[in-house]
Amino acid sequence: MRNVLISGGGVAGTALAHWLRRNGFSVTVVERAPGPRKGGQAVDIRGVALDVVDRMGLGDRVRAARTRMRGMSMLDGAGTELFRSEEHVLSSGRLDGEDVELLREDLVAMLHDVTADRVEHVHGDWITALREEEHGVRVELAHGGHRTFDFVIGADGAHSAVRRLAFGPEERFGTHLGQYLAIFPTANFLGLDHWQVWFQDAASGAGGAVYPVRDNTELRVTLGFTAEPISYDHRDVEQQKRITAERLAGVGWEVPALLAAMADAPDFYFDSMAQIHLDRWSAGRVALVGDAGYCASPLSGQGTSLALVGAYVLADELGRAGEDHAAAFDAYERRMRPFVALNQALATENPAGPPAEESVDRAKHALSLDA
Ligand SMILES: Cc1cc2nc3c(=O)[nH]c(=O)nc-3n(C[C@H](O)[C@H](O)[C@H](O)COP(=O)(O)OP(=O)(O)OC[C@H]3O[C@@H](n4cnc5c(N)ncnc54)[C@H](O)[C@@H]3O)c2cc1C
Repeated sequence: MRNVLISGGGVAGTALAHWLRRNGFSVTVVERAPGPRKGGQAVDIRGVALDVVDRMGLGDRVRAARTRMRGMSMLDGAGTELFRSEEHVLSSGRLDGEDVELLREDLVAMLHDVTADRVEHVHGDWITALREEEHGVRVELAHGGHRTFDFVIGADGAHSAVRRLAFGPEERFGTHLGQYLAIFPTANFLGLDHWQVWFQDAASGAGGAVYPVRDNTELRVTLGFTAEPISYDHRDVEQQKRITAERLAGVGWEVPALLAAMADAPDFYFDSMAQIHLDRWSAGRVALVGDAGYCASPLSGQGTSLALVGAYVLADELGRAGEDHAAAFDAYERRMRPFVALNQALATENPAGPPAEESVDRAKHALSLDA
C-alpha cells in the first residue's frame, strides 16, 4: 500500500487523510500541536465544500453545529450603533442561506473523529528535512527520527514548513493584505444572545467583532488593525498580545475590557491577512493543499471551503492516477486553479467590506467534484 505523510492536522490535512485512506493509501498525519488545535472564530463551509462534507457523511453533524446567529449590529469606535441587520451577518452572509458557519475547532474535531482509527495521527512533532529519493521522500522528524514515504503533502497552513523546505521561503509566495487579526475566547460578559457586534474605529482603522458561542456562555472576540508587515515571532503569543493591545489602545466601546480579557485568554490566534500564490503546488513527490498552497485569507471567507475541496480533489486524482503521481498532481492543478483564483479574488474585491453576494455564489460553486 502506498504511504503518504501529511504535515498539519487542521482542516486540509485531516480531510485529505480521510479521502486518501478511502482511496487506498496508508496515511500518517504529523501535527505540531500536542492535540487537535482549539481556538479561532467560526469558519464557513459553502457550495461545493458542503458536498464534500456530505460525501464524508458529516453533513448532519456539521449542520447541527452551525452558529445560529440572529443578526448583527455595527458600532463606531465610541460604541454608537450605525446599523443593524436580522437578514445577514458580516461573518457569513445571509442568515437564510444554505451555507454553514461553525466553529473551526468543532469542524477539526469532527474531521479528527472520522479519521482517528484509520489514520496514524502523530502529535507534537514536525518535519525538519525532506529529501526526494528515487522511489520516495525521506523525511526527518524533530522527535520521530527519519522515515520514507511515497508522498509528502504540506497541509501545514499559511506558514507551511513543507512549502519552505520544498519550494522556498515564505517571502516569495506571500502577499500581505494590510491587516492583522487577533482571535480569542472569553466569558460572555456582554450578555449577547446569538447576536454579533462589530465595531469600526474610523480614527485608528482598528475594528473587530464579538459574538457568543456554546449556548451564549462564551464570546469569541476578533480584534483587527491595519498595518504594513510587522516583524514578530510566530510562536511568541505574549508578543502578539502586546502588539494587538498597542494597536487598539484608545479605542472606545468595550474594547478596553476585551483587551483585558485577551491578556488571560487560554487560546489565542494571531495572523496577518495574507494570501499565498505559487505557480505550482507540487515539486516531485511533494505537494501542497489548503492554506499552505493557496491561502485566500479570512477576508475571503473561503479558506476552509478551499481546504475541504482541495483535499478531496487531490486525493481523488492521486487515487485515480495509479503509479503516475505527476499526472495526478497536474490534474489537481488543472481542476483547482480556476476555483482557487475565483475564491482568492473575493478577499480583495471590495476594500471597504465584504464581496458582492453574486461573486461569492459564483466562486463557491465553481468546481465539480465529479471530474
Ligand atoms: C488555531 C487556528 C485558528 C484559526 N482561526 C481562524 C478564524 O477564526 N477565521 C478564519 O478565517 N481562519 C482561521 N484559521 C485559518 C483557517 O483554519 C484556514 O484558513 C482554513 O481552515 C484552511 O485550513 P488549513 O488546514 O489549510 O490550515 P490551518 O487551519 O492553518 O491548519 C494548519 C495546521 O497545521 C499545523 N502546523 C503548522 N505548522 C506545522 C508544522 N511545521 N508541522 C506540523 N503541523 C503544523 C497547525 O497547527 C494547524 O493545525 C485558523 C487557523 C488556526 C490554526
